[in-house]
Amino acid sequence: MLRLTEVKLPLDHLQGEIETAILKKLEITPEELIGYSIFKRSYDARKKGEIVFVYILDVETTQENRLRERLKKDKNVIVTPDMSYRFVAQAPSHLGIRPIVIGTGPCGMFAALMLAQMGFRPIVLERGKAVKERTADTFGFWRKKGLNPESNAQFGEGGAGTFSDGKLYSQVRDSQHHGRKVLTELVKAGASPEILYVNKPHIGTFKLVGIVEKMRATIESLGGEIRFQSRVEDIHIEKGQVRGVTLASGEHIRSDRVVLAVGHSARDTFQMLFDRGVYIEAKPFSIGFRVEHPQSLIDRSRFGTQAGHRLLGAADYKLVHHCSNGRSVYSFCMCPGGLVVAAASEPGRVVTNGMSQYSRNERNANSAIVVGITPDDYPGHPLAGIEFQRRLEERAFELGGGTYEAPGQLVGDFIANRPSQALGTVQPSYTPGVHLGDLSLSLPDYAIEAIREALPAFDKQIKGFAMNDAVLTGVETRTSSPIRIKRKEDCQSLNIEGLYPAGEGAGYAGGILSAGIDGIKVAEAVALSIVGTANGKI
Ligand SMILES: Cc1cc2nc3c(=O)[nH]c(=O)nc-3n(C[C@H](O)[C@H](O)[C@H](O)COP(=O)(O)OP(=O)(O)OC[C@H]3O[C@@H](n4cnc5c(N)ncnc54)[C@H](O)[C@@H]3O)c2cc1C
Repeated sequence: MLRLTEVKLPLDHLQGEIETAILKKLEITPEELIGYSIFKRSYDARKKGEIVFVYILDVETTQENRLRERLKKDKNVIVTPDMSYRFVAQAPSHLGIRPIVIGTGPCGMFAALMLAQMGFRPIVLERGKAVKERTADTFGFWRKKGLNPESNAQFGEGGAGTFSDGKLYSQVRDSQHHGRKVLTELVKAGASPEILYVNKPHIGTFKLVGIVEKMRATIESLGGEIRFQSRVEDIHIEKGQVRGVTLASGEHIRSDRVVLAVGHSARDTFQMLFDRGVYIEAKPFSIGFRVEHPQSLIDRSRFGTQAGHRLLGAADYKLVHHCSNGRSVYSFCMCPGGLVVAAASEPGRVVTNGMSQYSRNERNANSAIVVGITPDDYPGHPLAGIEFQRRLEERAFELGGGTYEAPGQLVGDFIANRPSQALGTVQPSYTPGVHLGDLSLSLPDYAIEAIREALPAFDKQIKGFAMNDAVLTGVETRTSSPIRIKRKEDCQSLNIEGLYPAGEGAGYAGGILSAGIDGIKVAEAVALSIVGTANGKI
């Protein structure tokens, strides 16, 4: 198979034009073309009004050997690499003690799926509820029915990414093509096959709910066991080796392989691990606000006269500004045509995040506008970043009026340093509601200064970004984990054998796709260690 890159076609091209482009590029006849598939489709929007699709195509032809020779110097034609997934191990017939996976976020879910597919019948422990019940609790909180600290936007089946835009891209190095395996499994569970080839694919909240349920059914059909409302409250360590876990119910489960995929909001669990002597260190993360603009403003800026084209959908953006005080401000987790959501998991604290449906057709675009911070900003204890987050979330709760409304301010007022008193043309989407005031009281001064400098700078890239009526809501504190639970090359904790810190909470992922990739990597490490032990190799 040959891979053709940089195949450019107009937005409104017909299906047949792809074939014509292949024939032209390879100089072959229709009879010599056996077939083709789209490996990737992105668009090039650098020239507004002249946006084109850019394809990477995998082509099967009877002339492959001849073409390989003739085109060996053409950098846009290569031999298609083998990206198929191969399991690294198969469970022994007498498995003995089953591995435990803590957490059913994308990391835990993929770790469990892989272990199940290799025959290791994992026991999966999740503190929150199954996704349908969890949806009722989370949407209930958004409708002012109160926060359930064990069942919300962070905790429950599917993990933090369930009520999200479901963006599926990542910048992690993935030489083993595990990302492909993640996408393929998501398609098997009901995601649209287009996620396999569109650049920057996304799934959308409601679809994610169904996908998570199907993945659970697959894990169970392969002998895995998933237990909800089963919070791990303690781990047992003997002479530097993990021996099992204790649940909040008091039940003890034995195992000498425990995958720890608890996400970045399991603050009580981090404390417990620290108290048990697991090596943890502080790591950088980011803090800031969500900003909302009319989606039409973003579309016009990115697509010009082609804004609204059905194949382009709602436009996104990615912005960075390096500030005069040495800080960097950037946009994060941009949700085109989406909603700002309440993502708190602890009482008396307010946290914002964003989500979209597959259609991305809400009136506003939103993203987090955040400032990078490092352990120098919260020195001392390895868990100091968590206390730092908590203080900001508590202040946001107070500034929001103590009812889980988010404190908010118009961009114009924020830049001019005056409190907001009334909304303008942009209606914020956050529920339970937005309490207008002065956001400069919600973050440290260096962060406020940096964001105040960055917004007008972003306006130079997207005209209208600093518009008076755009709305900021706060605070965004859970951009990534404030800690890293360090692990060795074999994915085991630096100082506890059999404990596999994984995913975003342990500091090894930063989104759904990278968490899924890390889940696969860790499942492989667990499988190899069990098989090695069974064969007497370890
Ligand atoms: C609203 C929102 C929108 C987002 N949008 C996107 C997006 O569009 N694209 C993207 O790539 N990323 C997005 N993210 C981030 C993404 O969801 C996370 O990066 C990803 O979910 C991390 O996966 P994980 O499996 O490592 O952890 P998590 O998904 O956080 O899962 C951890 C799981 O562990 C469980 N758990 C925690 N402690 C315990 C315990 N002691 N015992 C048992 N279970 C426990 C939790 O209940 C949770 O289910 C979003 C996040 C949020 C909150």
